[in-house]
Amino acid sequence: MTLFRTAYGNTRSENGWRMCTRAACERILVPGADNQYLAAMIVRSGPSEVVLRAWAIWYHRNVERLDLYKVGVGDDWGWSERNDVANSNHLSGTALDFNAVQYPWGQRTMPTARKQRVREGLNLFEDTIFWGADWSRADEMHYQLNGGTAYGDGASEKLTAFARRLEAGHLGLLAGTTVPPVLPKPVARPTLRRGDRGGDVTYLQGLLNRMFSAYSKLAVDGDFGPATESVVREVQRRSGLAVDGIVGPDTWRAAGVR
Ligand SMILES: [Zn+2]
Repeated sequence: MTLFRTAYGNTRSENGWRMCTRAACERILVPGADNQYLAAMIVRSGPSEVVLRAWAIWYHRNVERLDLYKVGVGDDWGWSERNDVANSNHLSGTALDFNAVQYPWGQRTMPTARKQRVREGLNLFEDTIFWGADWSRADEMHYQLNGGTAYGDGASEKLTAFARRLEAGHLGLLAGTTVPPVLPKPVARPTLRRGDRGGDVTYLQGLLNRMFSAYSKLAVDGDFGPATESVVREVQRRSGLAVDGIVGPDTWRAAGVR
C-alpha cells in the first residue's frame, strides 16, 4: 500500500507534510443533533485526523452548521488527488474547506461576528490551525494544519500532544463521537444542462470556480447559462470527455465529486 507520493513534482505540501495517497487518510464525520452525522471529509490519519476532526466539530458547534448540501453532495472538503495549487495542503490531507459554496475563493464574504468566533477557536487550538482568510488572496472556507505541525513522515511532538489532550476530553469535543455503523448513502448527482436552475446549479458553479479557478470565474447564481456551459465544455475538453456541455456522472467526476 503506497502511502506517500509526489504531487506536481512536490514531495511535501506547503505546511511541510508529506504528500499522501487516499490510503494514508480516513473519513471524518461531524455529528449533529440526535447523533446524525452531517458532514464527511477525508483527512490524513493519525494526530492530524484527531485535530482536524476536533476543529470541524468545534466550528460546527460554535461558528455555523456544517451540513451536507444534500445527502452525498457536500461542500466540505479535505484530501484531494488533484489541485489547482501544486503544493496545496489538500494534497497531503491536512486541509479542510468548510461550506465552500458560501465562501468563494478570493472574496471576503464572512460576516464579522462569525470571523470573531473563528478567531476564538483558532486560539483554543493553540496555533495548530491556520486559516486561509489570512492569506492576501483570502480563502475563508479553508483551514489547514499550521507550519511546524509535521515532523518526518508524520506529526510533530506538539501536534501529537495536542491530539492526545483532545482525545482525553480537552475542550469537550470528541466524547461519544465514534463512527456510526451506517453512513449516509450517496445519491446520484443530477444531470445538469443549460437552462437548469436551482441549488444543484449553485453547487456546480461553486465547485467549478473552486476546482478550475484558472478559467472558471462564474457568478454563483444558480442559473445554468452560456457562461456555465462554456466552462463545462472546457472541463470536458481538458478531461478528454465528450464535449457536450451536459454535466453527467463523468463530468461530475472530472470536477472532483466522488
Ligand atoms: Zn482549501
